[in-house]
Amino acid sequence: MIESSAPPVTSLYVHVPFCAHKCEYCAFFSEASSGELINRYVGALIREIVLVAHDLKPRTIFFGGGTPSILNLRQWEQILKTMERLNLLGAEEWTIECNPATVSLDKAKLWRDHGINRISMGVQSLDEKLLDRLGRIHSREQVFKSFDTLRAGGFDNVNIDLMFAIPGQTMVVWRETLREALALGSEHLSSYEVIYEEDTPLFAQLQAGEFDVDEQLACDMYDELVATTAAHGLAQYEIANFARDRRITKDESRLTNGTAPVIPAFASKHNVNYWRGGSFYGLGPSATGYVRGVRAKNWSNSVLYCEQLEKDKRAIESREELPPLSRAGETAAFGLRMNAGWPFEEFRTVTGFDLRSDWAGEMNRLTQQGWGRADTERFQLTPQGLRFADTAAAEFLRV
Ligand code: SF4
Repeated sequence: MIESSAPPVTSLYVHVPFCAHKCEYCAFFSEASSGELINRYVGALIREIVLVAHDLKPRTIFFGGGTPSILNLRQWEQILKTMERLNLLGAEEWTIECNPATVSLDKAKLWRDHGINRISMGVQSLDEKLLDRLGRIHSREQVFKSFDTLRAGGFDNVNIDLMFAIPGQTMVVWRETLREALALGSEHLSSYEVIYEEDTPLFAQLQAGEFDVDEQLACDMYDELVATTAAHGLAQYEIANFARDRRITKDESRLTNGTAPVIPAFASKHNVNYWRGGSFYGLGPSATGYVRGVRAKNWSNSVLYCEQLEKDKRAIESREELPPLSRAGETAAFGLRMNAGWPFEEFRTVTGFDLRSDWAGEMNRLTQQGWGRADTERFQLTPQGLRFADTAAAEFLRV
């Protein structure tokens, strides 16, 4: 039961598990699906929203996937009307993930009219051959067209997702993709190295020896990413995330990198909440939520998800409550992904533990190694440490 005195949760993630086609590298829970299952999902999601609405006052909302933009206008209207009726509109930041092939001006306008104010567009590459290699359904031209459509629809906060170290991608191609993507002038850019997840076609091709992984090239591409984004006025605030601190005018194609703010104005507030150990509800098949120390994961099965909700039951597969020290260790590890690291006082407020006493040994080791630095206010990873952030952060985990 929710304690009556607990303030409502201020962050909401909704998973839309449908895509037009499954990409070669994708290990997210998503499926290419029929209109009928999508309709059933929308009905179930509405029931799930109703079940948690009394404990929600969203400051940030993120519809991810999958491909949320695959839902049609009518399905979006149903979801948004429900949220309006339940008083869930008005989030400070509300993001919808889009595939460039499924953006339309009508949808963009409907979203803007209901308070959605940020779009995250999965571009991945601007090279036709690589888009094909990845199994993406969109063309490079659709990226430019959809970006213009989103701007015309009123979106002035757009993220672009790119991938690097794609098999067959050379440094020349990566530089050109970065140049073209940054020329769009988006407020935010996320970029991840390709990951070879088991049970994906790309992993099977790697196992079959169809291509090799060039780790040095991947490192060089990452360095290129960090340098080029900085030269275009996007400040890195997390290993893979870069944002502007102010909106640029159309004429400003290049900005020099001034003093980077710790967390730039266009950073994803929703993701910062994750990295800072905040609570959030996770709705939809396979979604994970974290509310007041309890992690709950929904079934990764759309039909089962619908069946549960049709009985007005949450579709939760598992719940886990970590002991406070383990939870604090995880929170430390997540937060160190950010360039700002952890301000000691903020960490103490969030977790009840003090990094300076409970993780002094780990912080010293990382500092001596050149991966971390501490001052009176905070502990943070150095640029060298950020390259190996997963290894560095793992030091903070406590079982
Ligand atoms: S669009 Fe995204 S979620 Fe869908 S298959 Fe491709 S990578 Fe996976």
